[in-house]
Amino acid sequence: VPVGTKGSIKSLPPNFIKEIGIQLAFVNTYHLVTHPGVEVIAKAGGIHKYAKLDIPLMSDSGGFQVFSLATQHKGEEVPYVVKISDDGVKFRSVFDGEMLELTPEKSIEYQMKIGADMMMAFDECVPYGSNYDYSKKAMDRTHEWLKRCIVKVRRWKIGMEAGQENRIKKLEKPPTSKHPLPNSFLNLPSNSQFLYGIIQGGIYEDLRKKSAQFVASCDVDGVAIGGVAVGEGKKEMRDEVKWVAPYLPKDKPVHLLGVGEIDDIFDLVKYGVDTFDCVEPTRKARMGGIFQSQKHNSKVKSLISEIDIHRGIYRNDLSPVDENCECWVCQNFTKSYLHHLFKQRELLGYTLATYHNLWVMERFFDRIREMIKNNII
Ligand SMILES: [Zn+2]
Repeated sequence: VPVGTKGSIKSLPPNFIKEIGIQLAFVNTYHLVTHPGVEVIAKAGGIHKYAKLDIPLMSDSGGFQVFSLATQHKGEEVPYVVKISDDGVKFRSVFDGEMLELTPEKSIEYQMKIGADMMMAFDECVPYGSNYDYSKKAMDRTHEWLKRCIVKVRRWKIGMEAGQENRIKKLEKPPTSKHPLPNSFLNLPSNSQFLYGIIQGGIYEDLRKKSAQFVASCDVDGVAIGGVAVGEGKKEMRDEVKWVAPYLPKDKPVHLLGVGEIDDIFDLVKYGVDTFDCVEPTRKARMGGIFQSQKHNSKVKSLISEIDIHRGIYRNDLSPVDENCECWVCQNFTKSYLHHLFKQRELLGYTLATYHNLWVMERFFDRIREMIKNNII
């Protein structure tokens, strides 16, 4: 799931999304709430229309930025948390200092207005190193908040929220091409937005298992694993997923929040994770880290390596950007040209590198899906 934090997959024009084969992208509620604000996005008909992101979209609850980043990286660039309570969290926007509030209900309302297809329940993500008692408290709070998110989504869907009476009436008469839906209707969020509950529990096995059992027992459309890869080592991170694997529902999608390095993905798919969001392919692309696909018969784990296109050895290298890749970039451009663009800080370099890295990622996942189908993993 490529990350389009602020409503854009950085440097990638949206018309390339389908060509690359991207099926789902991720947007961050916290960023969109602080700028441009959810009201204008809702008025535009949701983020799909506003940003021309014509594929299913997943949003987070906003909690991760507020809780986790704020406590881990103290500084000017992070939200300033004013108060955390059982009701929610109050914080100041990094953008303009405005006082904002996130509660389970607010988070769902924001995500509904953004128009995301897959929404995350509001959760408390504890920083790495949190002790058992605090991790348990945050987990219990996350569970209580999940119940409130479910109620909020239900109320919204059956039209119990204020101002939706007209919408219900319109729904009784299905729209036809002769009588299309009025604009005011289109401005309202879609009725087919789905909710994921989030498993928390820090680094503690019994808490993780308890949380997984609780979330799986709730009336949610999908299950997400949160609070991993927040500073712990790779083994610990993988253990956190392994512990909950037996409790993950077989009939619902499972998402792992914020993890997506190549070697992690391959191992974690085995535990039942279906989707991953991570900035890795796009961030690396912008830093000149160009994925190199290995031959089809290579081991899947080492299917992708990486080169730094800034290196002088590529200045006169007229071979394709990636010799084993069939993407539009590799059919048309050389390592030398990409090296030149990056050295000269030409903006096209970021676009070409992002296109290629995401293409390689998609083919990696094609391969994984094939292996699952053939019972190889
Ligand atoms: Zn390519």
